[in-house]
Amino acid sequence: SKSTRLVAAMKKADAATRAKSAFLANMSHEIRTPLNAVLGMAELALRVDDPTRKNECLSRVLEAGTSLLTVINDILDFSKIEARKLALERIDFDVREVLRTALDMHRLHAADKGLVLVAEVAGEVPRAIVGDPGRLRQVLVNLVANAVKFTEAGGVTVRIGVAQGRDPAATEESLTLEFAVSDTGIGIPRKKRRAIFKSFLQADDSITRKHGGTGLGLAICKLLVELMGGVLAVESEEGRGSTFSFAVRFGVGDPEALEAD
Ligand code: ADP
Repeated sequence: SKSTRLVAAMKKADAATRAKSAFLANMSHEIRTPLNAVLGMAELALRVDDPTRKNECLSRVLEAGTSLLTVINDILDFSKIEARKLALERIDFDVREVLRTALDMHRLHAADKGLVLVAEVAGEVPRAIVGDPGRLRQVLVNLVANAVKFTEAGGVTVRIGVAQGRDPAATEESLTLEFAVSDTGIGIPRKKRRAIFKSFLQADDSITRKHGGTGLGLAICKLLVELMGGVLAVESEEGRGSTFSFAVRFGVGDPEALEAD
């Protein structure tokens, strides 16, 4: 009837409003925490005389400032992609170099946890491909960050290969690359496997955040991979580990056009 439909619509609107308030509260928290650290540490740096302690404070300022920037960039990226305002670049780049810089960002953290970080790039992956290296790196950085974060023993392996056989559209000018980020970590329960790709705003109350983080990481990865023409998938076994994978078609680039290292 009309009135039950009205009640259902009101309930939905109410849930959306609550999700938005929760989202804003969560983001405010994610911004306020590092900002407080920046201010507190800067103040301390001004007050201490010992140069070593001053430097310690300043590196904390830098650290907190960097994580603040990450939160802000996540929020901006997410809204930009959702509003379809994000355009991908098309330039010649070296995918091995992109992977190396993505992994380098996590070497320290992985080493601290005693984890091995491995890159395996198939020999047939061309020297140069055409696409958006910055956005591809962003996806890899996020997936590797999660893999390291949720793994206590073993390690993280990133594989890049060329799709074989089932790629009828492949030509000499283009090919499909397959990416896989595997870890030996805690794994993801089956009932959570869909929700992890949703933004905090879309997710229901059952995945209210228990730990820090904007909850935008995987939602952004998913949207970026889709923008590149692929699909981000996950396979996981609880207690054994997870593998996030996607395949994307790229143009074959000109190695001469690569920027010199
Ligand atoms: P957050 O910023 O909260 O970490 P993400 O979107 O990056 O948000 O991840 C969402 C959730 O998915 C995480 O909180 C975690 O529960 C789960 N998750 C993501 N990657 C992994 C992984 N490699 N192993 C286990 N759980 C993972």
